[in-house]
Amino acid sequence: PISIAEYMSLALGHPEHGYYRKHDPLGLRGDFITAPEISQVFGEMVGVWLAEVWRQLGGGPVSLVELGPGRGTLMVDLLRATKKIPNFHDSLTIHMVETSPVLANAQYLNLRESHRRIEWLDSVDELPASKTLIIANEFFDALPIRQYVITNEGMCERKIYWNHKSEALEFVLGQPGLSLAKSGQTIKDGTIIEQSPASRTVMRTLSSHLKEHGGAGLFIDYGYLGDAHHDTLQAVKAHSFHPVLKEPGDADITAHVDFTTLMDIARDTGLSAYGLENQGTFLTRMGAEIRAEMLMKNASDEAREHISSGVQRLISPQAMGELFKVMAVSSDPKIEVPGFQ
Ligand code: SAH
Repeated sequence: PISIAEYMSLALGHPEHGYYRKHDPLGLRGDFITAPEISQVFGEMVGVWLAEVWRQLGGGPVSLVELGPGRGTLMVDLLRATKKIPNFHDSLTIHMVETSPVLANAQYLNLRESHRRIEWLDSVDELPASKTLIIANEFFDALPIRQYVITNEGMCERKIYWNHKSEALEFVLGQPGLSLAKSGQTIKDGTIIEQSPASRTVMRTLSSHLKEHGGAGLFIDYGYLGDAHHDTLQAVKAHSFHPVLKEPGDADITAHVDFTTLMDIARDTGLSAYGLENQGTFLTRMGAEIRAEMLMKNASDEAREHISSGVQRLISPQAMGELFKVMAVSSDPKIEVPGFQ
């Protein structure tokens, strides 16, 4: 049996068969759609956030890093929105951290007119030694998780194996390890606990980098504070939920993001952490609805409907407004990070 983390790494990142290596998963014809693909206002508000934080951090040269940039739409929109901010574009060197060659190519095609200095990196270990602004939308949810199940005998890792009889992948429990009953904690049998060692490693690298060189980060994802204590692993194909163990490499697999752990790591490293804020609240505070009205003034009837429904989808609690959360970190506790209370 292999761990769920190994399964996710292979299904998403295998050089030949991995989901992100083969496909452009986004958009109507793809498997899922993300906030920047729904409305340009998303990227515009992120741009306003970045430019304001850059100003408060003293301006000057800065590396703008996007993690898992998809098609590059967020970057295109945020650059367009910040064009007129004095010195901002001239101060930027852009770094796109992307493992998928298909998506890196799409990013290049979309972005080549948007800025003179854009470089692609394979991992966060390659960030340049300079002040840094980081943005990541739906990045941490793609990083592998492990799951543990509380049982009578102790805690067991949930694993995946190929059942020769049924000729299918199935979940199985590994050998019992630590017994929580003995440690005095009471968590109900059958409870599932998730951990993402890969997310921790990335967050530690980012936090140390920001602490050393100065800067800030904005992270948007669906996730939770505290303990999820249930199975959040999910797969999506053609805009519908899909069995996690079916057709690995041909469906997107994600898990909800454990924001408490990410914030703890940032704070332990000496950064300030802000949030969680609901995406709807954050975007409204940043001026998304005002921006949508401005766009609608000069638009055709059809475009007006598109702008309005897009922004509502991002903000409305029934759509993405509450499910998606926003967290920020900064190296300077004195700055006023916009969009958060
Ligand atoms: N941020 C984009 C795309 C989200 S999909 C948007 O909002 O539209 C997840 C993205 O993360 C894809 O670009 C995928 O290729 C990338 N990705 C997944 N695992 C990664 C890893 N380990 N390192 C870098 N990028 C990764």
